[in-house]
Parts: sequence; C-alpha cells; structure tokens
Amino acid sequence: MGTRQIDLHEELKRYFGFSQFKGLQEEVIRSIVGGNHSFVIMPTGGGKSLCYQLPALIAEGTAIVVSPLIALMKNQVDALRGISQEEGIAHVLNSSLTKGEIKKVKEDITNGVTKLLYVAPESLTKEENVEFLRGVTVSFLAIDEAHCISEWGHDFRPEYRNLRKIIGRIGDNIPIIAVTATATPKVQEDILKNLGITDANTFKASFNRPNLYYEVRPKTAQVDADIIRFVKQNEGKSGIIYCLARKRVEELAQTLQVNGLKAVPYHAGLDAKTRVRHQDMFLMEDVDVVVATIAFGMGIDKPDVRFVIHHDIPKSIESYYQETGRAGRDGGEGHCLAFYAYKDIEKLEKFMSGKPVAEQEIGHALLQEVVAFAETSMSRRKFILHYFGEEFDNATGEGGMLDDNMRNPKKQHEAKEELVKVLSVIRDTNEIYKSKEIVLTLRGKENAIISSHKTHEQPFFGIGHDQKKEYWFALIRQALVAGYIKKDIETYGVVKMTPQGLDYIENPVSFMMTDDHVFDANTDNAIVSAQKAGAGADKKLLEMLKDLRKKVAKKLDVPPFVVFQDPSLEDMSIKYPVSVEELGNVHGVGDGKAKKYGKEFVALIDRYVSDNEILRPDDLVVKSTGANSGLKLYIIQNVDRKLPLDDLASAKGKDMADFIKEMEAIVFSGTRLNIDYWINDILDEDQQEELHDYFMEAETDKIEVAMEEFDGDYEDEELRLYRIKFMSEVAN
Ligand code: ADP
Ligand code: MG
Repeated sequence: MGTRQIDLHEELKRYFGFSQFKGLQEEVIRSIVGGNHSFVIMPTGGGKSLCYQLPALIAEGTAIVVSPLIALMKNQVDALRGISQEEGIAHVLNSSLTKGEIKKVKEDITNGVTKLLYVAPESLTKEENVEFLRGVTVSFLAIDEAHCISEWGHDFRPEYRNLRKIIGRIGDNIPIIAVTATATPKVQEDILKNLGITDANTFKASFNRPNLYYEVRPKTAQVDADIIRFVKQNEGKSGIIYCLARKRVEELAQTLQVNGLKAVPYHAGLDAKTRVRHQDMFLMEDVDVVVATIAFGMGIDKPDVRFVIHHDIPKSIESYYQETGRAGRDGGEGHCLAFYAYKDIEKLEKFMSGKPVAEQEIGHALLQEVVAFAETSMSRRKFILHYFGEEFDNATGEGGMLDDNMRNPKKQHEAKEELVKVLSVIRDTNEIYKSKEIVLTLRGKENAIISSHKTHEQPFFGIGHDQKKEYWFALIRQALVAGYIKKDIETYGVVKMTPQGLDYIENPVSFMMTDDHVFDANTDNAIVSAQKAGAGADKKLLEMLKDLRKKVAKKLDVPPFVVFQDPSLEDMSIKYPVSVEELGNVHGVGDGKAKKYGKEFVALIDRYVSDNEILRPDDLVVKSTGANSGLKLYIIQNVDRKLPLDDLASAKGKDMADFIKEMEAIVFSGTRLNIDYWINDILDEDQQEELHDYFMEAETDKIEVAMEEFDGDYEDEELRLYRIKFMSEVAN
C-alpha cells in the first residue's frame, strides 16, 4: 500500500462520518497502512476497532480479525454493514454457520468484496480454514483483546497461544496488529514475545477518561435505596450495576423492578437463552439497567452507557477501571459510582484464604490498592492514572475536576501522635495481634485473647481510650496503605511492622489522616457540568429521533446504536439536516450510513422544521405508545416472575383497577399472562371452576353482566382477574 497517496481524513469521513481521529488513531493507521507490525494499547472506548477497520477498508484484500467473543464480532459486523451498501463487506466465520453460509463467505472473500473477516481463535485453527485463507489475499491480521495471550492478563485464553503458528501457515510477512486495553508492562511484554513482533510499532494512549465522573460512597444498610434513588434520577439512561454474587444480582434486579425501574439480571448462572435475551433487551433499550456480575460487559459495545454502579467494590483497580470503562464510550457523560465498605474487603480476603500463598499474595496486594483508592482523599482520577504508571495534573489535565474528592474535598487532620500510639502498641505487643485486638488494646478493653497474653497488665493498655473504635480502624487502614505496617500472609490478618513503621515511632513526621467519608450526599448535581454532549440540542426533536431510531432498529433487528449513535442524533437536533446529503455532515454519519438509514430521519426532521417546532398529534402518539409499551413489558416480565400484583401496581403508581385495565389490554391484544399464582390465592378451586364454566357459556364477557349473574358472590376485581386468566388460556 506504501506509495499510494491516501487522504486518511477523507476516508475517515467517507466511511465513518467522523471529521477527526481520536487520540493516536491516525498514527496507528499510518503504521498499519505502511505494512508494519503494530501494537496498540488504548483504554476501553478509546476507539481501537477503527484502528484496524479503516486500514482494512482501504487496503487490498481481506483483513482477518481475531476476537474472543462471538457477540463482540457480531456487533462489529453489524456496525460495519451499517456504514456500507455492501452486505458482504464484513463477515464472521465460526462454527455456527451453515454450509451455505460458509460458501457465501468464501465467495465474497475470493471476489474481493469482504474487507474484514472476523474469526474466533478456535475457528482459525481449523485446517480447512487455514487451507482456504492461504489461498486468498490477506491484508493483515488484527488481534483484538490481545491480553488474552498472557497468563498475567485478567482473561487468559490458551487458544490465543497458537495464533503465531497459524499466522505463519496462512502466509509469510503478514503484518500483525495486536490491540488491547490492558496496560501492565508484564502483559505487554508477553504479547509482543508470543506473537514474535518485538519490533512492532507500539502506541500507548493515555488511560485518562475525561468524560467519566468517579465517585465512591460509603456502603450502608440503605445501599439498595441509594441505588434506586440514583437510577430514578437517571431514568431512561442506560446503566450497569455490578454485584459480586449472583444471588445479590437477582435480588437487586427484582428490587429495582418492583420499584418501577426497567432492569434485568445477568450472570453466569442463568441459562444461555435468558442471558442472550437480557443482553438484547439492554442493547435494544427495552430495559435501562442490567444488574450483573462481572460476567457481563466484555461482549457489550453499547456506547451510551451513562452510569456504572458498583454495589460491591471490585477485587482490583484493573477490574474497576475496566468495568467503569464501559460507561461513556461515545464520549458523553459517564457516572461511575462505587459503594464501599471495608467489611466487603474482609469478605474478599476470606475467600482467598484457601488459595496458594503466591496467589494470595498477589490478591492481597491488589485489594490493598482498592482500599487505598476507596479511602483516599486525593483525586480519584489521579489515583487511577498513577496506578497505570501515568502522572496526572488536576489543574491542567482534561477531566480534572470530575471526581467526588475534587468537588468535595474530604476533611483531613493531623494524626501524628495517634499514629505513633498505634505503631508502638503493635511493636510492644510483639506483632501478634490482628486489627481487632490492636484496637481493643488501644481503647483499654479486654477479650479472651488479650487476657491470655496479659496485655491488659501493660502500661500502654488503654492509651487510646479517647477515640472511638471506628477512628482507630480507619487509622490502621490508612497506615497500611501508607506502608507503615503490613498484614501477614501466612497468618492472614495479623499486623506486622515494616522498617518505615519502626522508624516512624522514633522520627515521626506529619501524617494527615482522612476523616471517614464526610462528603456531601448531594453530589449528584456534579454530573450536570460533566454533560458535555447534547448541550444546545433541540430536546423535543432529539426525543423524536430517538424514538424513530428505536423503531428502525427493531425493524432491522439490530441494536439502536448500529443505526445512529447518540452524538449523531444530538448533532442532528442541532443542525436540522433535511436531505440525505446534508445528513452526511452530521457527526458520525458517513455517506453509506446516510443513504442506508437516513431517509426516515430527514423526513422526520423536515416535517418538524416546517411545522415550526410545533409538536403534531401524530408524533405524540408515537411517544405515548412507547411509554405504554414500556408498562406492558414491565407487567409481562414481572408477572412472569410471579411478583405480587398489588406490589407491581403500587410500584407503578397505579391503583389495582387501573393496573387490571393494563393487564386486560395485554391479554385482549393476544398476549398470554399467566396469573395462576395470584388467582390461586384469591379464589379456591370450586370458585374457579364455577367462573370457568360461566365464561365458557356466557353470551358476553361483560363484567357488569357477570356481577348481576352472581349477585354479589364475587368482587368486581375477582371477576376481572379471573377473566384475564380465562382469556389467556382460552382465547389466546
Ligand atoms: P475500544 O474497542 O477501544 O473499546 P471502540 O472501537 O468500540 O473502542 O470505539 C468506542 C467508540 O468510539 C465507538 O462508539 C466509536 O464509534 C467511537 N469512535 C471511534 N473513533 C472515533 C472518531 N475518530 N471520532 C469519533 N468517535 C469515534
Ligand atoms: Mg474493542
């Protein structure tokens, strides 16, 4: 490709509709176009896919893209087909295809139609595929999620180890592009060595995500209520809530549903079908929130996730960074809210106690960083970036004010004397105690362990009686983080001195202790200023465009963002394009996309404009059906879960009569609702039989007529509910 002059900006605009490259994209693309091995480390949302997609589109031949997850591949192929008129521009090759489909894929490749071929590593090892690929023009080979190669990565996949060998068999001198979001130096080295591309051009982007707002709140017994309040304040926005345990996922998802929020659970314990269904509901925006274990996310490229909540603090900063990284991939706001209690850390430590010592050691070290992050009073952003080996200046760096500690600085106070007390108690009790006994000793309280060591007879017993136990626990944790003490691995939990700690007792210096979480509970409004995207957009039109997008997506059976992404719709509602050509000027909309999806959108805008921004009844109808179908979906889902009908009604702010009306509408339009669990509670067998026979025979299903017939034997509500059961079973 070398000598041909290519205007990359023009290609970018033509294919993707973007007018600028993001971060290092242009450099990376030049490297790839030049035929060089290239190694790209960019955080999630950094725009890695485009780094290999654009070169693939302009290069001769087909680029092979190796990716670990089928869902991820499918997503990208859908998106690529969206920007082109040519269906065969991208294909997936995997074991799920039929013979006919495989034939079509191979034809498209041979005919030079296919620019990108996505394959799972397993499929790439298949002899017949290697055989076939050897005979075609391969422009380069891209390996997404390349950290899967390394045992030191957080997602090691043995199949990735064979890639080097296979690439060699497909062809000589195929340029290799490795792409990952994992930054640790060890993993980087593994990747380059394993692929045999130590001479690769390496591109490492900053891990700063300036549009993300980081916040840590203390986790109390009210954590569910806190989460519900947060989700309600952000209703209609997409969000992910992470929990560590499956059971918690189930409970929390239900709590949200009962409170009228559109949420579904996702964890590895659900059967594959349910998982796919819930994931699709989230992608298609039928639900706003997924409550999930970490099993959820890697396969999800939803760009407009507006918040990520951690109900439980993760096991490492890396996981935290990765999980929060799923917010705001489109560059719009992303609120990252973590709930933290030290108790959770102790639980995680207990889980580790059965593991080999070496593994425990890594585990504890990682957890210690998490504690430090949660309890720090410094900028969260600075902390995270420091962890990844990057310096960040809050005064000059982008996104500098976007975290809780910067907006609401925590109070600190001098704790030099108290720290000396803690350290000398540890030293003078011969480093045999865990935190609990250390605090008891400081406060002059006995327990069996303390008595057995006769610590209560020591002169220092009770030297810290003037402070509460919470104070001392916090100070011990902060001393751990500062490196004055450490926890013993073998006898886990026992606190030991470090050389710095011993030295501190003799030569104490200032030690600023952070008061336990004192930030204003009302930090939510901080996000308002974080909202860069969407400012100045015509809100009414934007809503309409979103509705339309949803409809179009449904019809084509693709996620809405495949049609147009949020920033594009926002741009449309600023620029009011009324023709397909004009639409091409909108952010994120290339020519192919404008032609493919644009017609209905410009028609809508045209109408809106000529109507002089007056909302027409037609458009109102579109909206209210949308809202209604939300309620219907809610009813269907929750009846399916056998939740009490009266709870569901009150969660939606409806009285039972109105709620029953909604259910009737569902059933009458042909959808079954199995409410046996409820009916069996309110009507006995004989009554049910009686009503069944009545409705079977009745001339009309009118409730008034039935009321008269039974002359007060049944309540109006009972009859209506039974009729729902009847209609469900008989009429549908
Ligand atoms: P990664 O794989 O690095 O996590 P993606 O490749 O999925 O990230 O890209 C994240 C988002 O950034 C996508 O929504 C993509 O459309 C968008 N994007 C990529 N490149 C650009 C660009 N040059 N300008 C604007 N948006 C971009
Ligand atoms: Mg990616």
